[in-house]
Amino acid sequence: MGRTFDFTLTATDGRARTGVIDTPRGAIRTPAFMPVGTAATVKAMLPESVAATGADILLGNTYHLMLRPTAERIARLGGLHGFMNWDRPILTDSGGFQVMSLAELRKLTEEGVTFRSHIDGSRHMLTPERSMEIQRLLGSDIVMCFDECPALPADRDRIADSMELSMRWAARSKAAFGDRPGHALFGIQQGGLEEDLRKASAEALVDIGFDGYAVGGLAVGEGQEAMFACLDYAPEQLPQDKPRYLMGVGKPDDIVGAVKRGIDMMDCVLPSRSGRTGQAWTRRGQVNIKNARHADDPRPLDEACACPACRSYSRAYLHHVFRAGEMISGMLLTWHNLHYYQDLMGRMRDAISSGEFNAFEREFHAEREAGDIPPL
Ligand SMILES: [Zn+2]
Repeated sequence: MGRTFDFTLTATDGRARTGVIDTPRGAIRTPAFMPVGTAATVKAMLPESVAATGADILLGNTYHLMLRPTAERIARLGGLHGFMNWDRPILTDSGGFQVMSLAELRKLTEEGVTFRSHIDGSRHMLTPERSMEIQRLLGSDIVMCFDECPALPADRDRIADSMELSMRWAARSKAAFGDRPGHALFGIQQGGLEEDLRKASAEALVDIGFDGYAVGGLAVGEGQEAMFACLDYAPEQLPQDKPRYLMGVGKPDDIVGAVKRGIDMMDCVLPSRSGRTGQAWTRRGQVNIKNARHADDPRPLDEACACPACRSYSRAYLHHVFRAGEMISGMLLTWHNLHYYQDLMGRMRDAISSGEFNAFEREFHAEREAGDIPPL
């Protein structure tokens, strides 16, 4: 096991890239999809089941964990990996985004953000320094800079001010992170949908110097067309030889479009959250298992899928346990969805390696457009 954090590109096809991030806790094959383990669990999944879907890395949420059970308690218990029984790499977000979306009575200053917990109303402050301390206590392998992200649409002055604040916070994050061999710190590019602000943000981050770079501030309501238009230039503004992470994305077609534009890592709650609400993601698009058409259907969700839900259960059973409110419903559909996402990433890695990404993309869209199998 090496002690360093390294990124090696093994192939490119157009702007799409494939490679591997080596960490002391194991390799991360890119493009990588990171399931979200918000509160030290990927909901409805055992960690060994998450690993069986092909996930090399999980995402943990600083905001949730700092409030409950607290980073200090997790550190006393040996760190997040042992606490949640996941020995592979973990990336933690900085808490900034969720403070803005979940916390109450937020107050933003140059120093940081004060807020009240959405759980019990207790007062907290997050700063770049405190975010680095929490992520160190958790034992995160990939630490994210503390940043501020305005909701879109926002006017250009607001986006520029916010980006400049995030760049000052990025420098403070780097200073507070210090020198931690085997652990990585990623900077986060901001600038909304303004190409020149994105460029200025990328240059500021590269001046500070990070182990990887995230494209932040997207998937916040701008829509796929605007997001892709931004991804037509934003990843290229970041260093070629470092991982590029698109935060909070997305649906399968968002992911394919992002990989096509040079993104290496993504995370999203969608496959696990959808699994608990009866929504399955398949190569034929989205299937709503609660629909009455499945009640007598003995066929699997996807006969070509190797996940336990598809190998051993019928659509009729998945429909029944969802309607009956049985816990196995969320377990099976989450497993299927995470398996589908990881299978999609594996197929993209293979397609990029063999120089066939365009053919992969055409088949991906053709299968989705054909839609679900007709009812019996
Ligand atoms: Zn399946």
